[in-house]
Amino acid sequence: MTNPYTLEGRTALVTGGAQGIGAAIAQGLVEAGARVFVCDRNAEIGEATAKDLGAEFVAADVTDSASIDAAVEHVVATAGSLDVAVNNAGIVHNHPSEDLSDEDWRRVMSVNLDGVFYSCRAEGRRMLAQGSGSIINTGSMSGHIANRPQPQSAYNAAKAAVVHLTKSLAGEWSHRGVRVNSVSPGYVGTELTKRGMNNEEWRTAWIEGTPMGRVAEPREIAPAVTFLASDASSFCTGTDLVVDGGYTVW
Ligand code: NAD
Repeated sequence: MTNPYTLEGRTALVTGGAQGIGAAIAQGLVEAGARVFVCDRNAEIGEATAKDLGAEFVAADVTDSASIDAAVEHVVATAGSLDVAVNNAGIVHNHPSEDLSDEDWRRVMSVNLDGVFYSCRAEGRRMLAQGSGSIINTGSMSGHIANRPQPQSAYNAAKAAVVHLTKSLAGEWSHRGVRVNSVSPGYVGTELTKRGMNNEEWRTAWIEGTPMGRVAEPREIAPAVTFLASDASSFCTGTDLVVDGGYTVW
């Protein structure tokens, strides 16, 4: 019997793949046998990560739809197909909402929501044309709860929208062979959480709020994505797989 978890012969794209959770996801997909394209706006780190992992690099800024369209075209022109796409690029901005500027609200929305839609649209067009594919969006437990004590309303709103965008696209595309799911991590030790981990009040609240009593390492998120990318999840679509050490049970 063939291994349903294998990604042998599949081509995958990971946005925000240069570092943190995205780099761990790219590594997991490589280990499962996929040909992986690390995609990031940071070419310097992205090239180095791709080289380390035995992957390839393609530059894109997901806030620019022409840029992500071109990255998808590059993958298809180079590898002949796009079978797995992980839309993981994201940023956070912590600021009290009553003073949040239009620019900062838009900046978070443009990466975390517009960027996920532009990426899904470009990938979905290709996958619908070939009649198969698996898209996994990186959501967050912040799409289900409002984090504390740090203020981050734009981030939380964008992540809730990513979870619902995922369900909406699953409803449109699944009967044409394209599954769309999301993975929602809890706190993970990366550049994105560095400021909070260096703040005693924030770090204590994060760890005490997590039943497992710790934050995750990026490699603990990757297997959930590999599962949703593979045939092992062939009847999963529109689902959100929460990987949060139990944070959302309280
Ligand atoms: P990170 O800052 O370590 O990595 C983010 C990557 O995205 C970087 O390589 C960055 O260059 C890239 N990126 C940012 N904007 C981009 C753009 N416009 N176009 C292309 N690439 C862009 O962050 P991380 O913690 O690894 O986060 C990855 C994803 O996981 C994000 O969507 C984040 O919201 C989500 N997430 C993180 C945590 C956590 O605790 N770290 C928890 C839940 C969800």
